[in-house]
Order: sequence, then C-alpha cells, then structure tokens
Amino acid sequence: MNKQDNKRSKNSKRRGSGKGRTNAVAAVSTAPVQKNDEVVLDIIGLTHEAEGVGRVEGFTLFVQNALPGEKVRALVLKVKKQYGFAKVLERVVDSPYRVETEHPAHYYGGCQLQHLAYDEQLRWKRQHVVDVLERIGKFGVEQADDGATRAANAGSAIGETQVKVLPTIGMDNPWRYRNKSQMPIGQNERTGGLIGGYYAKASHRIMDTDVSLIQHEVHDEAMRVVKELARKHGIQPYNEESHTGLLRHVVMRIGFRTNELMITLVTNGKRIPQQEEFVEDLVKALPQLKSVCQNINNKQTNVILGDKTRLLWGSEYITDYIGDIKFEISARSFYQVNPVQTEVLYEKAVEYAGLTGKETVIDAYCGIGTISLFLAQRAKRVLGVEIVEEAIDDARRNAEINGIQNAEFAVGAAEEVMPRWQEQGETADVIVVDPPRKGCDQALLDTMLEMRPERIVYVSCNPSTLARDLRILADGGYQVVEVQPVDMFPHTAHVECCSLLVWNGNNE
Ligand code: SAH
Repeated sequence: MNKQDNKRSKNSKRRGSGKGRTNAVAAVSTAPVQKNDEVVLDIIGLTHEAEGVGRVEGFTLFVQNALPGEKVRALVLKVKKQYGFAKVLERVVDSPYRVETEHPAHYYGGCQLQHLAYDEQLRWKRQHVVDVLERIGKFGVEQADDGATRAANAGSAIGETQVKVLPTIGMDNPWRYRNKSQMPIGQNERTGGLIGGYYAKASHRIMDTDVSLIQHEVHDEAMRVVKELARKHGIQPYNEESHTGLLRHVVMRIGFRTNELMITLVTNGKRIPQQEEFVEDLVKALPQLKSVCQNINNKQTNVILGDKTRLLWGSEYITDYIGDIKFEISARSFYQVNPVQTEVLYEKAVEYAGLTGKETVIDAYCGIGTISLFLAQRAKRVLGVEIVEEAIDDARRNAEINGIQNAEFAVGAAEEVMPRWQEQGETADVIVVDPPRKGCDQALLDTMLEMRPERIVYVSCNPSTLARDLRILADGGYQVVEVQPVDMFPHTAHVECCSLLVWNGNNE
C-alpha cells in the first residue's frame, strides 16, 4: 500500500534545512518527526499500555485509542530519542473490531482496551504471547486448536519441540470483575475541593468519578460515600505537587463470595480529623464494611501504600473463597484481583502440576498461600516462600483455618530462600513460580535448574519476562510444553499465562 510512500514524501521534505529547521536541530534530533507535526499513520501493533503503534520511517509513535489495522491522522505530541507520542485527530480507516465504548470516559478506570471487541482482545492477547515467545524467547510456536500451525521460528534451538500456545480463556461476562480498586484523591484545580476517581490516561490529572465498569459495584458506592464523608468531616485532599493535605488514596477490596468490604485510607500523616465520627458514618452508610484501615504514606512518591498500616475499625482482614478454600486477606497482602478467573488459572496450575499425592511442591512468590493451599490438597507437602511478612502470616493462618497441615511457609526473597533450602538438601518434584512483572531473579532460575524438579509451572503476568525466563529454563534442559493465556484483566492490555515445563533428560 501507500503507507511508506505517504510518509516518505512528507519526511523527505522535512529533512531539508530549507523548511525553516536549522541544521543544528537536524544534527541533534534524528527523529523524522517533531512535536506538532501532523502525520498519517497505519497502526501496526498495540503496546502493553494498549496504545496503538505506528511508524514513520522506522521511527515509532505511540497513539492512544488507535487499533491495529486502523489508519489515522495524528498530531505528534512528544518526541524522544527512540520513540514519540501522538494523538488521533481523525480516524481515516476504522478497525472492523472497533466497538462503541460502554464507558463514556473510556480511558479512565483502567479500561484502556474497551474499544476493541472482547473476542478480538482475547485473540490479540494470545498473539502477543506468541510474538514474545518467538521474538524474546526464540521459541518455535504452535498455535494449537485452530489449525493455524506456524513453521518453527528460525531462531529456535535445534531439536527443540514447538511450544503450544492455547487460545486465551476469557470471561463470560467480562465486566465488574475486580475485587480491588485503588482510587486517588486530589484537589479540584479551581475550587481546591476534594475530588477522587481515576487518573486521566498517562497523566496525574484526576477525573472525579466513583465508577469503573471493571470494578465491583460496591466500590462505586463506597467511593462515593468516602468522598462525601471526607468532605463533611473536613478531611483535606492530598496535593501531590505541594505534598500537603491528608487523604491520598482510597483502597477498596471486597470478597466476591462473602461480600465483605475492606476500606484502606492512605494518608499523608497520622491524624485524621474527626476520625471517630467519620468512621462511624462510614460504617452506617456501608453495610458490607468489615474493616477500615489506615495506611500512612508520608513520602513524596507514586507508590500507593506506605509501610505502616493500622486498624481503625472492625477486623484486620476480610475473608473470601477460591474454590472451597477460605482465605483471610489483610490490607498489605497480594490477592488476585479477578476471583472468577483466578479459579480458572489455579485449576490450570493444578492440572499442570500433575500431582498424585506423593510430591513435594515448592510455591515461590506464594502471596497469602493461595496456590500453595490449592496444591496442598493433592500433594504430600508444599513449601511456600514470599517476601511480604503479613502475607506469610495470612498464609499460615489460611492453612490453619482450612485444616491443611502439609503446607509450610517462609518469609524472604525467593532468590535467597530457595538456594538455602537447596543447600539444606531440600528437593521438589514440582516448582511453581508466580513472580511479579519483572520475572524471576537469575539466582532463583539457577537454583531451579540445580534442584531439577520433574515439572515447573510458571505463572506470569508479563509475557516478556516469561519468554526470557522460559528460554533460560529451556537452555537448562526443560521442555516448554504448553502456555495457557488466561484473561485476568479484560479491557486492559494485560495478559496472564500459566505454563508447563517438564524436565527433558535427553537435552543434557
Ligand atoms: N501466587 C500468589 C501471589 C502472586 S503475586 C497468588 O497467586 O496470589 C507475586 C508475589 O510475589 C507477591 O505476593 C509479592 O509480594 C511477592 N514477591 C515479590 N518479590 C518477591 C521475591 N523476591 N521473593 C519472594 N516473593 C516476592
């Protein structure tokens, strides 16, 4: 098509110094576009932040609210050395998968991909996993099921079998799925009054709203009430720039099965004016409330939670169930945000673990022991390790309240604790890892390779680090058998994967 011609003619003009741009500028910036230029772009990809990707002479521009397959006229907003940002002025060609958004302000509330049809979101997520496995992991990939088997990637190791990537498992109803919301509080720029809601995309400007279509309905109501009562009791909103004011964030978590609500007020400073009356009013207004906590964060930082949490009212934790296991969850502990899909994910992890009742399993990055306790029901023994101390307290208590006696938990960095276990002669038949976005530490991967379990189940929320780590494990003698993407975060560009690796003795 005319995609390249179009841009080239535009840019070749721009390259000349005769267009009013000095040679000095041209020498500094090699980008073929500058701020405020208008460009016509073919959108060829989608980033992890759900921005469309377009190129001008190989130079990448990220464009909000633009989908692959679309052609847009866009205004360049910002140019950096390697890439830039642009905004759509006009869509020249629409994607056939574009849908009317249900949320009027659809960038807010974390539903960045709402304008892409849900089935297409699921296909895109799987394709994203395939792409990174090929590009970063250098694997040959087979897209099982729909007959679309691809040839092995030229870069894959000789003799390596292809990795099977299954279709993404989506939700029947991909709305209102989040059990946790973290909403910033701030000042109305004009009046200075308290507002709160979600940040406008790629900025720290707060949109004053209670609603997000991907969060539980109770959170809409709870946010409305907290803001109203904070105003009534003279609680000052935090001002990020001057680092003044009190209320910074409202963090809400609800048990989907139990309907128990925890509200954590993140404050800049300890003292809350009219605290008792405020909390009393909250409790009266929200019948689901089981716990009100205060988290103190005095730092000038984007990190939401500070180190200190104290209970203002009710219980230290809320309860919820995954499958038939009951979990008590405290304010600082990680708990999967989509309870419906968590069950799907964990079932897959259990299936991949292939347990018969005789195995020792290590669950690294175990959080409050959710996967551990699922596995413990079918294994001889489970050892969990996790860095957050409160989470391990929760894990131990959760084992106890479920009468599970074959699970033990340790606090610490997995990459430090696991080598220690290994030195002490600990072995495992199955190792499950579920690391944060940055993936597994090299020391942990090395230890896994030395422990050499029969199976590794790798649960990941970041396909890129997953692909990197799977390559290391594959080079260490494991066969990556299958990757199952699970849609834990509908209407966002995030993808969760559960992967099975088995020891491949022949590869030694
Ligand atoms: N498997 C759990 C938690 C997964 S989230 C679940 O499904 O609920 C990742 C967890 O890793 C978080 O609880 C986080 O606190 C923990 N974590 C982060 N870095 C860690 C490290 N270096 N060692 C151990 N745990 C870590």
